[in-house]
Amino acid sequence: MPTERAASAQTRSDIRTYKGIGVSPGIAIGRAVIVEKRVAQVYRVPIPEIDVPGEVTRFLESLEKTRDELLELKAKVSRSMGDEYASIFEAHAMIVGDASFADKVVQKIENELVNAEWALAEVQEELQARFASFDDSYLKERVADVKDVAERVLTNLQGVAHHDLSEIEHDVVILADDLTPSDAIHFNRRPIVGFATQTGSRTSHTSIIAKSLFMPAVIGVPRLTKMVDNDELVIIDGYEGAIVVNPTKAMLEEYRSRETRHEEQEKKLLENRELPSVTKDNHQITLQANIELLEELGDAVKFGADGIGLYRSEFLYLSKSPGLPTEEEHFETYRRLAEALAPRTCVIRTYDLGGKKLAREVMGSKEDNPVLGLRGLRLCMKHREMFRAQLRALLRASAFGNNIRIMFPLVTSVQEVRQVKTFLREIKTDLDANGIAYDREMKVGIMIEVPSAAIIADLLATEADFFAIGTNDLTQYSLAIDRANENVGYLYEPLHPALLRLIKGVIEAGKRANIPVSMCGEMASDPMYAIVLLGLGLDTFSMNPSSIPIVKNVIRSVRYKDCKRIAEIAMQKKTAQEIEEFVIESVAMRFPEGLVPRTL
Ligand code: PEP
Ligand code: MG
Repeated sequence: MPTERAASAQTRSDIRTYKGIGVSPGIAIGRAVIVEKRVAQVYRVPIPEIDVPGEVTRFLESLEKTRDELLELKAKVSRSMGDEYASIFEAHAMIVGDASFADKVVQKIENELVNAEWALAEVQEELQARFASFDDSYLKERVADVKDVAERVLTNLQGVAHHDLSEIEHDVVILADDLTPSDAIHFNRRPIVGFATQTGSRTSHTSIIAKSLFMPAVIGVPRLTKMVDNDELVIIDGYEGAIVVNPTKAMLEEYRSRETRHEEQEKKLLENRELPSVTKDNHQITLQANIELLEELGDAVKFGADGIGLYRSEFLYLSKSPGLPTEEEHFETYRRLAEALAPRTCVIRTYDLGGKKLAREVMGSKEDNPVLGLRGLRLCMKHREMFRAQLRALLRASAFGNNIRIMFPLVTSVQEVRQVKTFLREIKTDLDANGIAYDREMKVGIMIEVPSAAIIADLLATEADFFAIGTNDLTQYSLAIDRANENVGYLYEPLHPALLRLIKGVIEAGKRANIPVSMCGEMASDPMYAIVLLGLGLDTFSMNPSSIPIVKNVIRSVRYKDCKRIAEIAMQKKTAQEIEEFVIESVAMRFPEGLVPRTL
């Protein structure tokens, strides 16, 4: 649980600039609030019998206080960000209110004559070990929640108040060693105006949430929390991936006017909303949106998306955690998506849990190498009941608009596709037996995000109705670069010749088999990469909604013929750097009117 560090005694005033990776565009200016993960130290203090009632009262009071805080937090998050984000706090409040949890701690204080902190820490460990040993996924997943809750109670017990950032009247920026997706959903728009972290990745859910909240964010700034003090004035430049500490007045003005320039450019780009995504030589492209929550549907429409190319359904799990969403909750979400988008298509990806993404919540299983572990489709096929609820709901919802498409993540072999299709058939048979309607023509596709899948794309094309290339993972698995590890972030190169060959192979395999191929990895949202992808024959791009007008602008200002030539020559180059230099040069030469800046 993040704790705030006390404001430094002598705040520095020297100007410093630190480099990181911009993951959510925009400029945020505010006073620094440093947030570090700390495991609270707990000591075993024996207490005399006479002090036991007082110790029990102290524990119960902090429990009550924690419950109130959680409910208040729930109300606040619900108001500012919606119920989907807020329900996690309600679930935590339920754990606090659970009598068996409190009783265990009280008994320990009474029986063992120890301080409340120690009793609490012991009970927490016992519960965590017990939950983790269960086969039941619902119980396993409570491990992280028990820990979260116990740490909150501990903080209250130790008399350290949770600072409520919403009490602060000036704008603040959060500088943290790490932030989880659940930390990120604490972020109200005010007073938090941006954040930066030491760790994280361009494609982590924390970065994705920042983007959906339009909150400027920079990640991968080495030693960030040690380099900046609380209360120093900080600029977070989400365009360039930079942090400026103690800027001068002139610098502040420059950044503010840059922000205005960007906003004006963005507004101008939005004017292309109604225009077709077509190149100068009339080559038609489809631009779709990636979304994580129903609430983002409005953005998808506003930015002119032609349907949803990726709905990351694991966010439904996150918002319902610690409980699993019921079939009805799945159904309600998918039905609303289908109805809002019809006749445009909506690709719903089944749970991609595990790996580093939401690893904390995943079944409580500890894996030495989770990115290569039980993740995506393999995890779902191991937890059939959980998966059945999702698939039944998807099928039922498909009857409303006939525009839902199912997509499976982390496919590595033909056998996996066959197995999941057999499972889907069983569910359809069951629905038929009960006279429940579903779209009988519903397309079933797969993500191509593992090298094995890309290499056998021709074989997979005989089993799947469509492909979506997930370059976030395809890059990670092909180049052996942990996508969340900032130490190897510099090696994360989507223009690596190996990747371009894989992507080209997948597009061609799809064309030969006459099945649609799209790309929903972050690569598809970058104007520079878009030129190469266009040239490789990609015709459906899916991305965060706000990037759509930027990529559309690129498409409308180029000729397909030129992009094909650029891609052809790029494919002959030997390194990512050579390819990038070549593409930049070609853009400058062929499109002197210029493309939208890459960082916008
Ligand atoms: C990908 O891997 O490119 C992708 C779109 O999936 P996610 O980022 O959710 O892993
Ligand atoms: Mg992926």
